[in-house]
Amino acid sequence: MAAGDLPAGRKMDLEEATGIIGQMARAGVGGISFSAGEPFLYIKEIAALVKLCRQLGIYTRIVTNSFWAKSPEISDPLVSQLKQNGLCQLRLSYSRWHQKHVNGKNVLNAAQSCQKFGLDYFVSFVTDFSEEDDPYEQFLRDHDITFFPEPVIYAGRAASFKRRRILTDYQANCCDMNPYLTPDLDMVACCDAGSHFSETDFFYLGSLKDQPPEALFAKSETDRLYNLIRIMGITPIASFAGMQSREIITYSKCQLCRKLFNDPGTLTRLRGEVSRLEAWHR
Ligand code: SF4
Repeated sequence: MAAGDLPAGRKMDLEEATGIIGQMARAGVGGISFSAGEPFLYIKEIAALVKLCRQLGIYTRIVTNSFWAKSPEISDPLVSQLKQNGLCQLRLSYSRWHQKHVNGKNVLNAAQSCQKFGLDYFVSFVTDFSEEDDPYEQFLRDHDITFFPEPVIYAGRAASFKRRRILTDYQANCCDMNPYLTPDLDMVACCDAGSHFSETDFFYLGSLKDQPPEALFAKSETDRLYNLIRIMGITPIASFAGMQSREIITYSKCQLCRKLFNDPGTLTRLRGEVSRLEAWHR
């Protein structure tokens, strides 16, 4: 996972990535997702890493914006090659923001190549649930494409987007929290939204340059607040922290998470009261 502010063209060295995948396999990692920036910029290297993962019994997914799938003639051989190398799933990012730069037809080509070669895929339809997104959703429905709507995460390049005050159910907002690794070998405990909690570095686990993966995974699995996010969910934590329930339901999950855990004062208080929080259940 590359943070958005890396200089263009920076990436993890192939040999280093190969070594890290070996380390990950020894640490018991069962799945790797090759994610943002855009993995298809380095498709030969990614394809080799996918092959290695298959040899090591690791499930693989690539997340892409489909910029490369300009026609079925281009898309078919690439998808077929990845399938042969053992790729398990292709996740296609799609939204009115992505489609300012990439023709929606490309996403269709990539999806149809997956259908043709039997590669598991889905379209991740990033949306702020506004009417503007209706034609984008309809396009997917019209072409019988498997898709799942995903709320836009207001971080990274989307940080400047105007937050829409939504009303959600009073739901728990639990999170699995899979660790992410940057090209600089920093590991964070959650997705790219979490890597942007710059006030507190709440999700920062450490660097693979200093510690083996087992130590970083152990940190992720034993942090008491992380575990409360996994088990209890962010909503009860927000209520415990003093947020009004009427306000809580105006936040999407990652924004609520940010409000709590990217605030140094709130975080210190939650860390201090973690035992009482752990007993905060009905
Ligand atoms: S809610 Fe928090 S832990 Fe979950 S994905 Fe968003 S930033 Fe990460």
